[in-house]
Amino acid sequence: MIYSVKLPVENSFSTAHMLTTRLASRSLPTKGLCHACRRSQRSLAPLRSLSTAGPSGLRRRWPYPLGLSIALLPGVFWFLSSPKSELSPQLYSTQKISSTTSISPSHKLISIPIPPQAQHLFSTPYKTDGSRADPDEVVVQHMMIGAPQIQIERPYTPINDPQNGEVQMIVKRVKGGEVGRLVHSLQEGQDVEVRGPIPTFSIRPSDYDRIVMVSTGTGVSPFLQLLSRLPESRPKCHLVHLQPAPGKEDWIVASGLLRRAQDDLGEDLIIHRPPASLITAESMKSAIGENPERAMVLICLPPHLMRPLCGGLTRTLEQGPLTGVLSDVGLSADQVWKLE
Ligand SMILES: Cc1cc2nc3c(=O)[nH]c(=O)nc-3n(C[C@H](O)[C@H](O)[C@H](O)COP(=O)(O)OP(=O)(O)OC[C@H]3O[C@@H](n4cnc5c(N)ncnc54)[C@H](O)[C@@H]3O)c2cc1C
Repeated sequence: MIYSVKLPVENSFSTAHMLTTRLASRSLPTKGLCHACRRSQRSLAPLRSLSTAGPSGLRRRWPYPLGLSIALLPGVFWFLSSPKSELSPQLYSTQKISSTTSISPSHKLISIPIPPQAQHLFSTPYKTDGSRADPDEVVVQHMMIGAPQIQIERPYTPINDPQNGEVQMIVKRVKGGEVGRLVHSLQEGQDVEVRGPIPTFSIRPSDYDRIVMVSTGTGVSPFLQLLSRLPESRPKCHLVHLQPAPGKEDWIVASGLLRRAQDDLGEDLIIHRPPASLITAESMKSAIGENPERAMVLICLPPHLMRPLCGGLTRTLEQGPLTGVLSDVGLSADQVWKLE
């Protein structure tokens, strides 16, 4: 079985904060309040009866709003100045980049250590429906990187198993891209604002004989993470990672990431590198194998490549109907999962 719920990509810190607080109260066991809200609740409680006794012994009441503001000041100052290092899906924290590697002029690999107290967020992860994953389920997760100066955030997917103690992410710099530009300017030892992990999708590998993954560009990231998290007893995996369009850089070769995955999984992983034009019914049939009812196909492609293969996501990022090549080869909608 595979599960996912589409989280909107929030474009503002404040909206993100409100939204994730709402999402958290619905799906994550935070008892409905994020840390910031709990803090402000704590500091509000004693203010209700704020008053002083004047020299005459008469009780003089401070004007309520003034008293409230004065009493809140130390709390606000403490909240703003205290370093927020606790990694959390709901709130931003400041983490140090432990290493950066330039893979190509547009692709940078960054590593961020996971604080030990946050390790459980990766080792006993939540799924998109808010429940905890069973031990035999794999949850692929992503992180949000924020640019506080311009109040935007973008999701990035670790390419490794974060249970190793760090998240490694490939960040592509696109023309005019804000967060990509910010991340490409960062060096080892510098701070970055992150929140996460956030579940992208989950899968129970033992439900399948074969997992087929189709990607291009940085769309390979969720699949590299999935491959790194599969148990020893795993289905056969086919990664169909399209060649870049003519004239575009094939950065994945320079990164060595496919070689690493191949070394780790050996015969359990077959990697194809066809051009986009060769994603045909025949090539998909051969990737799916002789037992199609025990196959799961995961797709992470831009819309113009996803549509002919399996139909696009809907405007609200729901899965939408299965059409195209994968429908023609006889797969059912619950055997295909489209990733944004
Ligand atoms: C769940 C999820 C996981 C993701 N994981 C990764 C990841 O691991 N690595 C990664 O690099 N990205 C990943 N992305 C995409 C990423 O979140 C950003 O959308 C992307 O990095 C652009 O952000 P930006 O702020 O730099 O550019 P923006 O300021 O958002 O965009 C600037 C311009 O570039 C265009 N643009 C955006 N993305 C691309 C693109 N890929 N190619 C060409 N033009 C583009 C936009 O339409 C816009 O016109 C993921 C997205 C999702 C939804």
